[in-house]
Amino acid sequence: MDNKLSRRDALKVMGIGAGTLFLPSESKAKTNLSMPASHKKVDIVIVGAGTGGMIASARLRRAAPNANITIIAPNKIHLYQAGQVFVAAGLYMQNDITAKTSELLEDNVKWVQDEVTSFEPDKNFVQTAKNGKIEYDYLIVALGLEYNYEAIKGLSADMIGHNGVASIYLNDVKKGVSKAGLSTNVWMNSIQEDASEKSVKVLYTQPDTSIKGVGADLDILFLSNDYFKGHGGNKGGDVSKNIENIYATPHNYLFPFNKYDKVIQNRVKKAGNINTLFEHNLIEIDSQKKIAIFKDASGKEIQEKYDYIHITPPMQAPKVFRDSLLSIKDGKYKGYMDVNPKTLQHNRYKNVFGIGDILGIPLAKTGGSAQVQGVVLQDNVTAAIENKKFPQKYNGYTVSPVKLKYGEVLLAEFNKKKALPTFWLDPYKPRWIWWELDLHVMRYAYFSLMMRGMM
Ligand SMILES: Cc1cc2nc3c(=O)[nH]c(=O)nc-3n(C[C@H](O)[C@H](O)[C@H](O)COP(=O)(O)OP(=O)(O)OC[C@H]3O[C@@H](n4cnc5c(N)ncnc54)[C@H](O)[C@@H]3O)c2cc1C
Repeated sequence: MDNKLSRRDALKVMGIGAGTLFLPSESKAKTNLSMPASHKKVDIVIVGAGTGGMIASARLRRAAPNANITIIAPNKIHLYQAGQVFVAAGLYMQNDITAKTSELLEDNVKWVQDEVTSFEPDKNFVQTAKNGKIEYDYLIVALGLEYNYEAIKGLSADMIGHNGVASIYLNDVKKGVSKAGLSTNVWMNSIQEDASEKSVKVLYTQPDTSIKGVGADLDILFLSNDYFKGHGGNKGGDVSKNIENIYATPHNYLFPFNKYDKVIQNRVKKAGNINTLFEHNLIEIDSQKKIAIFKDASGKEIQEKYDYIHITPPMQAPKVFRDSLLSIKDGKYKGYMDVNPKTLQHNRYKNVFGIGDILGIPLAKTGGSAQVQGVVLQDNVTAAIENKKFPQKYNGYTVSPVKLKYGEVLLAEFNKKKALPTFWLDPYKPRWIWWELDLHVMRYAYFSLMMRGMM
């Protein structure tokens, strides 16, 4: 399947990529960009103006031209969260990854800048902090998720950026701010400086919860290590021989899809200075003594000394949602939204749908998942309004452009069962063209096309 890519082909890929990346053919074929699907005058309320909420509002605006569409969200600023990694890598400025919510919203979508404080699906309204009750005929939940750094004993979110602790995830989508990129960049440079004089041990940890943006911490592992080899604009020279990286995970894999995992594990072996600790779940840190405490699969506690640590925090559904009638009450996806994984309709409240990280379904916590879900949501919500059969099924698509070094990305597109490559090239081969696409095309595609529901 693999074939050499000429520069000309590469440019073709980039041109196509702006319109199609993150839309595998199964979904793309069914996308309806132009035809309205319902002319009924109904009240649609969308909660959240992140990736999922913006996609839902743009798509439903087009598909249901007579509907009153209200979006409730507090964030004046919208964050392109995937770009945090390139800020850390020193390749984006902070303002490359933000835009004003008001400028991204379609005309004729009413924005209530507020927070939902309770969901009342039996009475078809949401309660807000400042604007009272807001009633709906159809509700779309796009609330995202929240970090729970505090679930690790001795750790709190305000410790990130101090004492050798970094986390590429750290952001506040409700305020539209992110310190993750810049503080991780400073962290990388401190390690570089220390390693020019002495041996340094860097620890990377993963939680045992489901996470969004799967692979973002692997990006930091590989990009940092490449930077320490003197790449990525680093003028300090190769200090990697003084650095020992340890990647600790509660799982028995590095990446949740076997064939991509193999590629990544091979890179880890090849690096020479990355060790792995499988089935190690971080439960506590002593940031003064720089000790991390893990529990292994047998329940035994294990201590690891470190000089620097990168933490992927435990994640959970926002409290206002966990406590609501819409959440799953038990099991692996406890607190997340109880939806049919194919139709995205709530399992009990038939006028409620969901999109994005809030869904209690496998893997699907990426912007690319939300993009594919947007097509399904558009057609199924309008079908519900028209009392028709649902025409679309979400196939569980997710995506992770794993950055294996400066200039090389493994474009992992998959669902629980199989790889779902958008392009015709061998999906298991890391390439510079995916790096180019990720670095130079995706940000524009995100703000100009995805936010407008056009890809
Ligand atoms: C470091 C990092 C790297 C990533 N890399 C990638 C990548 O390469 N590719 C990819 O596809 N995805 C990536 N992701 C994941 C992607 O950003 C998320 O999956 C996506 O943003 C989820 O969209 P969402 O709408 O569900 O949630 P969000 O975009 O987080 O939006 C949540 C919205 O809900 C609002 N909200 C919260 N509480 C309330 C309330 N009480 N009332 C009203 N509104 C509320 C917020 O203000 C916000 O508008 C990455 C994420 C991170 C952090």
